Amino acid sequence: MPKILIVGGGYAGFYTAWKLEKHLRRGEAEVVMVDPLPYMTYLPFLPEVAAGSIEPRHTVVSHRRHLKRTQLITAKVTGIDHANKTATITPEGGAPYELAYDHVVVTAGSVSRTFPIPGIAENAVGLKSVEEAIYVRDTLISNFEKAAALPQGDPLRQRLLTTIVVGGGFAGIETFAELRSLVSSLLKDYPGVTFDETQFHLIEAMGRIMPEVSLPTSEWVLKSLAERGANVHLDTQVTSAVDGIVETSTGESYPAGLIVWTAGVMANPQVTRGGDLPLEPRGRITTQADLRVIDADKNIVEGAWAAGDVAAVPDKTGGLPDGTCVPNAQHAVRQAKRLAKNLVAVIRGEEPVDYFHKNLGAVAGLGLYNGVFQSGKTAIKGFFAWVAHRGYHGLAMPTWERKWRVIWGWVHNFFLGRDNVQLAAAQQPRAFFEAFASRPKPPIEQPVEPVAAPAEAVAAPAEVK
Ligand SMILES: Cc1cc2nc3c(=O)[nH]c(=O)nc-3n(C[C@H](O)[C@H](O)[C@H](O)COP(=O)(O)OP(=O)(O)OC[C@H]3O[C@@H](n4cnc5c(N)ncnc54)[C@H](O)[C@@H]3O)c2cc1C
Repeated sequence: MPKILIVGGGYAGFYTAWKLEKHLRRGEAEVVMVDPLPYMTYLPFLPEVAAGSIEPRHTVVSHRRHLKRTQLITAKVTGIDHANKTATITPEGGAPYELAYDHVVVTAGSVSRTFPIPGIAENAVGLKSVEEAIYVRDTLISNFEKAAALPQGDPLRQRLLTTIVVGGGFAGIETFAELRSLVSSLLKDYPGVTFDETQFHLIEAMGRIMPEVSLPTSEWVLKSLAERGANVHLDTQVTSAVDGIVETSTGESYPAGLIVWTAGVMANPQVTRGGDLPLEPRGRITTQADLRVIDADKNIVEGAWAAGDVAAVPDKTGGLPDGTCVPNAQHAVRQAKRLAKNLVAVIRGEEPVDYFHKNLGAVAGLGLYNGVFQSGKTAIKGFFAWVAHRGYHGLAMPTWERKWRVIWGWVHNFFLGRDNVQLAAAQQPRAFFEAFASRPKPPIEQPVEPVAAPAEAVAAPAEVK
């Protein structure tokens, strides 16, 4: 029985395994999926998790609950030796070992792409995982609580109320707008803090935001953000974030309570680098349109497949400038579905089919009751776009069990309001216990007995005659 190894159980990996379970006959192939996390994360919901509109656990899909015929290994893949068809599996705290396979499907996604700017690695946080989204929300609310306890005019108070987001792509703008919406909703609980004290800055190196929507639509978003007291700095770069003070190429300086980095992604280097699967200049695994990996001479690398953010998949619609699909969930899900069908076809000796997907458009939530939708030349802005955003993502969330939890959470929030409590102390869960924990008394020191001098050191008594 051939063994299929799926590396990464996010969007593309989870859907590949799910669909393989559906298409494979019993005994036709064995499927193993390796991921350091036991769940798939619905990343488009992270801005709403950070803003407290969705419960963090509702935005992830448990592998074990929904993949019943896939063998799951909670570990990292730290190397792929495709020449020998083995992958190195590194479990947390355990020794690495080799796993043999017949087909490898690489779906290890992407990581935040940063630049060597002083202070960013130490002081900023990304928004690529649910854990980061939880941190962002808890930090923002706890900053508010700390600031409210300080006198007005205190520089620390101003700093705690300043939030910076770097990167004006889709994820950055959604995050920025959702956080602005959260902070505006916090003001009613903190009567001592004024709207003007809450500072929001988005730094974008390009001359516009959200390249996925038309220029007029992106300008409408800028206007909407400005009306809500959020500053967007275009054609501006972050030059330093040392000690959490953000300095920009335009000479401004903002001591910040929270810095969120959303300035792009790059293919997951942990899985791609050091392996022998062919990569293009941007570090993505090269595939042909049927999702089989190809080398620089366009020869098929037998038994190797890739999809999602980690792969450079040709865009057969011809609509994209560099000829490959952009890294987004729309493509990851559809590529995974096609990949599962193609893999089963190859195992059965049939011909795989090329991946083809015409962009459906883009829909973004910009905080409660505000959003933007663009498909071709059609744009919807404001409340109806926000309804479209929730409708689309509510239904796109995989599994009915998860859709139900997310949609009911929204209904609860509608009637009960946003739950603005922070659990930042959960980041050091043992601190309280440890502060008061009894410890064994140190052993009582015994008085030191004078040590008898060694016999040879004692002067021999004078001989008595
Ligand atoms: C905040 C945010 C908002 C977004 N909003 C949208 C949107 O509205 N619409 C849209 O189309 N797209 C959106 N995207 C992009 C979309 O989520 C990604 O393109 C999509 O998740 C890519 O799927 P993937 O399977 O390639 O990667 P992922 O979903 O990131 O999955 C990668 C998996 O690989 C695992 N992994 C990592 N390292 C290893 C390793 N060493 N070994 C094994 N497994 C490993 C990870 O744990 C993860 O489970 C958004 C992204 C973000 C961050």
